[in-house]
Amino acid sequence: MSANVASKRQLAMVMDLNKCIGCQTCTVACKTQWTNRNGRDYMYWNNVETFPGAGYPKNWRTSGGGFDNEGNLKEGVIPEIETGYGTPWDFNHEDLAKGVEFKANAAPIWGPNWDEDQGAGNFPSDNYFFYIPRICNHCDNPGCLASCPRDAIFKRSQDGVVLVDQERCQGYRFCIAGCPYKKIYFNPKISKSEKCIFCFPRIEKGLPTACAQQCVGRIRFVGFLDDEEGQVYKLVKKYKVALPLTPQANTGPNVYYVPPVAGPLKFDANGKPIPGSDRIPPEQLEELFGKEVHAAIKTIKDEMEIRKATGKSELLDLLIAYKHSDMFRLDAGYYAHHNNSLKPVDHRYDAGKFTSFKAVH
Ligand code: SF4
Ligand code: SF4
Repeated sequence: MSANVASKRQLAMVMDLNKCIGCQTCTVACKTQWTNRNGRDYMYWNNVETFPGAGYPKNWRTSGGGFDNEGNLKEGVIPEIETGYGTPWDFNHEDLAKGVEFKANAAPIWGPNWDEDQGAGNFPSDNYFFYIPRICNHCDNPGCLASCPRDAIFKRSQDGVVLVDQERCQGYRFCIAGCPYKKIYFNPKISKSEKCIFCFPRIEKGLPTACAQQCVGRIRFVGFLDDEEGQVYKLVKKYKVALPLTPQANTGPNVYYVPPVAGPLKFDANGKPIPGSDRIPPEQLEELFGKEVHAAIKTIKDEMEIRKATGKSELLDLLIAYKHSDMFRLDAGYYAHHNNSLKPVDHRYDAGKFTSFKAVH
């Protein structure tokens, strides 16, 4: 059954998919910041995948987990390292100068971005794709937390960040099956599960997550969901143009997406645009973001007309984000104020952080 894990405040992120260019700078920023010990090599706490596509890990959208409408945990699968995540491979760089063929040291069969930019349809008549960057959603009702028999996953009451207590975790991996987003990973070197920590050590200093700070497309807003003056609140609650991914998994995600709004029309056999056609099938957007996606897209299109007519639109100003720093509303003072009550909670994460090697049983 779902767990009662309500937090006092909730940190959230909004990602505007209309601006993501799939450059993977966010992925590199995250890896540079957090792949700081062995065993995290294959993990992508942040990844950017092409839709339509199988995603990362492969076929996560059909891998179960989350809750049914009665609040019961649904069965999920744990992706295989080789076929689901892909085994990292290397190249014979040292042989290049000797005239030896440049090749991978293994025959890879899957990996992150395996199907990058493939998309669907036929060029130029009806082809389409867009990028979906993904991190842990720091859910209201985390499937990972509910499925852990060790009570090793906790949601911080002060900001709703979901963390794994590295001391309690025994590496059972039920959490991976329970997460419908497959955003929790097994570290085979230390036999524990690990995941995106919403860069909480940065957040507590008033800095945005590394992925948001480095985002080239300026697609990521970070702030508290209850901050009515914040961009996150306005996009999610006021204008309702930012929506959770696959909300039917019933975990209450706190990462929200502004859906892709308007691509070029489809072309007929003579290369002429087909009036009223949708290059991105609306039913696929509905599957990703729920029925609200149509109202969200209409709101943005209506605001574009208002902007054309009047030159004004708070919503479009927000989405354009003229100044990168305006995309983050964090409050280091809030954390400083709560410092004493925070420490014991964070200790649970930190204490197991340098766990030494344990064989996998
Ligand atoms: S996205 Fe997955 S790992 Fe993150 S809190 Fe939700 S259920 Fe847990
Ligand atoms: S850095 Fe920003 S624009 Fe580039 S892939 Fe990541 S989310 Fe998209």
